[in-house]
Amino acid sequence: MTKVSTLKVPARILMGPGPSDVAPAVLQAMANPLLGHLDPAFLEIMNEIMDQLREVFGTKNQLTMPMSGTGSAGMETAFVNVINPGDVAVVGVNGVFGQRMADVAQRCGAVVKTVEAAWGEAIDPNRIEEVLRSEDKVKLVAVVHAETSTGVMQPLEDISRLAHQYGALFLVDAVTSLGGIPVEVDRFGIDICYSGTQKCISAPPGLAPVTFSQRALDALDGLSDKVQSWYLDLSMIKGYWGQERSYHHTAPISMNYALREALRLILEEGLESTYRRHQILGGALQNGLEAMGLTMHVKEDIRLPQLTVVRIPGGVEDAAVRSRLLLEYGIEIGGGLGPLKGDVWRVGLMGHACRPKNVMTFLTALESILADMGVDVEAGAAGSAARQRIAAL
Ligand SMILES: *Cc1c(COP(=O)(O)O)cnc(C)c1O
Repeated sequence: MTKVSTLKVPARILMGPGPSDVAPAVLQAMANPLLGHLDPAFLEIMNEIMDQLREVFGTKNQLTMPMSGTGSAGMETAFVNVINPGDVAVVGVNGVFGQRMADVAQRCGAVVKTVEAAWGEAIDPNRIEEVLRSEDKVKLVAVVHAETSTGVMQPLEDISRLAHQYGALFLVDAVTSLGGIPVEVDRFGIDICYSGTQKCISAPPGLAPVTFSQRALDALDGLSDKVQSWYLDLSMIKGYWGQERSYHHTAPISMNYALREALRLILEEGLESTYRRHQILGGALQNGLEAMGLTMHVKEDIRLPQLTVVRIPGGVEDAAVRSRLLLEYGIEIGGGLGPLKGDVWRVGLMGHACRPKNVMTFLTALESILADMGVDVEAGAAGSAARQRIAAL
């Protein structure tokens, strides 16, 4: 075997659908020496993280903490701890992550009733109500707040009200929304919410913050059998994060250092300023792309600022553009998933990556590549459109 040299990774600007760029301070936090998972100093860090997460989630929920695993572990945690086999779960499906929730719910033994919308549209609350009215008893209603596969922001208030009116729990995927747009768990009446660290929180992938309301914990207590997943069983894990501090599994120590620092940076900037930065720079990117002659996939009132889905101009080869962005400029963006494959690009401005320089660099790079490929783009138009919007920051 040839000798493996010291690890050296190329410099990148992560502007895809995640992972996003991580602030140097977060990487530095990870370089701290390990502590034992029951060391009083680590228990203190856990308490700080729970407080920070309550603030970012906008909740007073006692059970608010990071699960070990990526966002998908948060998703499984959300379902596996409240679903009894045979329970009815209403799941909004308008993209990959709604589909994944339906799959997870089904694996838990739920009778899944999907409410679908086109990929690029929001779920219609009236369609949810039709299902709620026709079913005897619905255990939960689940939607994705920020559909990373389509760029749609799902309005939550009406669906929350309906879920509660019919006695169901309201479950929200906030993987791409948390830290990018307001996720106000208590105000929106969300019972179960989960996220991930590598989107707008801007820590490496590896933890999945979750929060459960008292109603959700009552559902956990009311399960007819043991939670089907040993690893994600909150009835045991809450012992480690709560008073007892009983060992369940070894917490990923360094990942928790990273999360603490990433949340500290968000709260130091302030939630309102963080949301405003995403709103303005997302708008700047979108204005720039439109000035270049490109079309947004999602209409403005339900369009995410932190993840822009833009249609690929006719005749332009998807993979060739993305590969030139990466090799010539070090910029990573995402392609389309499922039915949108080859039709759209997904451009993220998440957390630490959401900065004016990245907007300008990306627009300049894309304009140059498209022009080189013979697309008719007006030189400089994108940059000046974006610059105007950025001035408001
Ligand atoms: C990324 C993502 C997930 C899955 O998170 P992983 O960290 O990839 O496991 C779930 N839901 C949404 C909306 C996402 O964007």
